[in-house]
Amino acid sequence: MIKISTTSKLDGIRSWSLQAIDTCPGSIASPGVLVDACKGCYATTGNYHYPNVKAPRISNREDWQRLEWCDDMVAALDSDRYFRWFDSGDVYTLALAEKMLEVMIRTPWCKHWLPTRMHKFPKFRMVFDQMRALDNVSVRFSSDSVIGEYIDGLHGSVIGPDASTFQARAGVSLCRAYEHNGTCSGCRACWDKSVDLIAYPAHGAKMAKVIRILKA
Ligand code: SF4
Repeated sequence: MIKISTTSKLDGIRSWSLQAIDTCPGSIASPGVLVDACKGCYATTGNYHYPNVKAPRISNREDWQRLEWCDDMVAALDSDRYFRWFDSGDVYTLALAEKMLEVMIRTPWCKHWLPTRMHKFPKFRMVFDQMRALDNVSVRFSSDSVIGEYIDGLHGSVIGPDASTFQARAGVSLCRAYEHNGTCSGCRACWDKSVDLIAYPAHGAKMAKVIRILKA
């Protein structure tokens, strides 16, 4: 059964998610070591430990493998105009990416935002290119940096210590959720294909600690 979640940050926009880290091969820097951006992952703390938050993510990992999953996802998105893939987790296998592509193609009324680190694995590039060719899909390759470093033309999002890190940079759209109690408050830049890179000022005590350690 399709299990969709809603995060308050995204103005009630819905999301399909998996368990963080377990389904994030792109989060591994070396055996046992996470990339910097994932060391402060919000999806491994707080509410994400609650059974009612974990259960749908665990269920979804099995559920997407059903033959009817694409049909059911298309039906579930009937009233959505914006959708986010992976409030937590990532496209850990190519078979899932190919099914997501089918859902995107069959829901042209809905804008999809897919943030991912799976771009590191060449076999995913073709399916990401196919997604990006669709008018209603924004695929953003996440930088691993938490100090604002990214590769022009590759990354579509990056974390930095604070808003001032990014202010002078052209082509970068700053996430201003911090000015609106941590909510998007009508902004839809992450879904906007014309925005090359979203810069997220670091949020959360855990991420602030990661940045302090890296800058020491
Ligand atoms: S850039 Fe805009 S749409 Fe993206 S998370 Fe921030 S406030 Fe929301």
